[in-house]
Amino acid sequence: ALALALAARLRQACGAGEAVARLGDTEFALLIESPAATAPDALRQRASELQQVLQAPVRLNSTDVFPRCIIGIARFPVDGETPAGLLEVAQTARLDVAGGAGLAFFRAETASRALREVRVEAALHGAIADGEFELHYQPKVDLGSGAVCGAEALLRWQSAELGPIAPAEFIPIAERAGLIGAIGDWVLRHACEQLAAWRAAGLPALRIGVNLSAAQLQRPDLAAHLQALLAETGVDAAQLGIELTEGMLLADVGHAQAVLAGVRSLGIEISLDDFGTGFSSLNSLGHLPIDIVKVDRSFVHDVTAPAQQVSITRAIISMAHGLQMKVLAEGVESEGQLSLLASNGCDQFQGFWFSRPLPADDFAALLHEGKRLPERFLVRPVRTRTLLLVDDEDNIVAALKRLLRRDGYRIVTAASAAEGLQRLAEHEVDVIVSDQRMPGMTGVEFLHRAKALYPQTVRIVLSGYTELQSVIDAVNEGAIYKFLTKPWDDARLREHVAEAFRQKELADENRRLTHEVDAANTDLAALNERLERLLAQQREQAELLAASAAGTRGVLDDLPAAVLGIDPDGIVAYANRAAERALAPNDGLLGRPAAEALPSSQAGAADANEVELNGQRFQALYGELPGDGNAQGRLVVLFPQPARKAA
Ligand code: C2E
Ligand code: CA
Ligand code: CA
Repeated sequence: ALALALAARLRQACGAGEAVARLGDTEFALLIESPAATAPDALRQRASELQQVLQAPVRLNSTDVFPRCIIGIARFPVDGETPAGLLEVAQTARLDVAGGAGLAFFRAETASRALREVRVEAALHGAIADGEFELHYQPKVDLGSGAVCGAEALLRWQSAELGPIAPAEFIPIAERAGLIGAIGDWVLRHACEQLAAWRAAGLPALRIGVNLSAAQLQRPDLAAHLQALLAETGVDAAQLGIELTEGMLLADVGHAQAVLAGVRSLGIEISLDDFGTGFSSLNSLGHLPIDIVKVDRSFVHDVTAPAQQVSITRAIISMAHGLQMKVLAEGVESEGQLSLLASNGCDQFQGFWFSRPLPADDFAALLHEGKRLPERFLVRPVRTRTLLLVDDEDNIVAALKRLLRRDGYRIVTAASAAEGLQRLAEHEVDVIVSDQRMPGMTGVEFLHRAKALYPQTVRIVLSGYTELQSVIDAVNEGAIYKFLTKPWDDARLREHVAEAFRQKELADENRRLTHEVDAANTDLAALNERLERLLAQQREQAELLAASAAGTRGVLDDLPAAVLGIDPDGIVAYANRAAERALAPNDGLLGRPAAEALPSSQAGAADANEVELNGQRFQALYGELPGDGNAQGRLVVLFPQPARKAA
């Protein structure tokens, strides 16, 4: 019906010198012959006129359908010289209009893109048989232990004909060409064989994640297929993982759930790839058996990113944790990104900063060397209480160090304020004890700076010289926690420092708890949001029902026969337009006794099949409206009859 409506519009819109033809379901071609009309501006103008005509809503079954019209334009003889050539070129031009104005002129690049696709597809056909594929392995690192905990297998293709081609280019083509099943099988088998080879070579067992395509997930026997492959290659399921994107999962959640449950029950790990690039919330995926959420590169920030972006990443991490999933950050390229992720509780990461994807032998070498993350990045490093002593007099530093070492602190020292700031950048310091009179910068000034840069530190001044005002100011502004005087009493000084560490640890614990409360609140907010979405869905359902009821009424209203609904008490409960017109053109039918409007039924001729009303003859049909057991009323349909010829 839509095609017919559009064809009619096109035919009507066609002017002199224009011919229209239908090519496919709703695909039409318009030939414009007049040379004057073929200047690019005139063509563009004409195309957008046609577009407007075609895009006006079409009413189908009392519903408005909004057609979207895209137009590709080709010109004779510049773009093509034969009818078939011109048509093909116009169709190619349509590939360019995707998100744009909906119309595009033919450009040679588009054709070369299409041509490149054809070439890539042709080359793909022989790629497996010719051994052109290879797998590279990118290490995944655990932020708790700092060790490599697995790898992602990434496909590499060196085409004999076209050179190296990136998976981002050839995977979609393989998917469209129906070649991805064979390629996916090659990748799975090859990864398993590599695992078995590494195991035989004595490398530690780890897990390899393999990317799956939508077509592979669609196999109902995926779990059985994987199980057979593992058995055949002698690899343990604990060494295999699969990576899927949310788009693949959401395409058919029921199917995904069933297939993945089977895969997971084997012990194969399931990762949700590229999370954050789609439009789903973790909640909507929460009931799927997902072990790891791989947060997309676009959510991996460093400290220079706006705070809001950083909190989105933190929210994703805590939400995933709330759903008992682990979080892996993808595409970590800098130390800054890594430390931010670590401090936000991320579990694992991969990225160029640690290692690019490597050929199998290089990856094995990396494992062999035991490459791991430096201690300082670990999420829960064993914290040693760290004390910074700052004094320009060497003997005082030495004496303090001797005294306080007994209490088991890690002690770092500095001979000036500038050096002190340097130490603070190098070490994670808990408590600072600083002299007041030092060349360059006073102790109070130094602690002011320390407070601004590292507000968590607990700061103490130890001075032989009391300059009252600056001390008062510093205490009032919270730059220092205690002011102690030289010479000191050993026992009391130790007690003060120990107390400072207790303060620090209490504050740390408070921060941690606040963070957990925040995370719990985020989860709660998500739950609320889910409830609201459910409510909105229900509301929408109700509205849809109401709309479809209104649609049915609309059809009844437009019926050329008169339709009356009469309730069990004999009152007119419904009358369509034709009924109103025929029976009560002036005063309306609703709510009136049926007998009044329909005299023949009053006369008891309840099944008379001909009635005459206001001089017009009708053929009448009666029906019972079914209810629960008892009749709920009657339906009367009156078909107008031609007037009887005068005798
Ligand atoms: P993916 O699954 O998201 O894989 C991660 C991609 O990010 C890889 O690109 C990897 O080389 C790249 N990458 C890793 N670390 C960094 C980093 O620090 N910075 C940046 N900028 N990039 C990084 P690659 O190898 O080109 O693969 C692209 C996509 O192709 C993959 O995205 C995956 O969707 C697909 N793919 C790769 N191999 C296979 C396969 O065997 N089967 C299927 N179905 N798809 C595959
Ligand atoms: Ca992946
Ligand atoms: Ca990814």
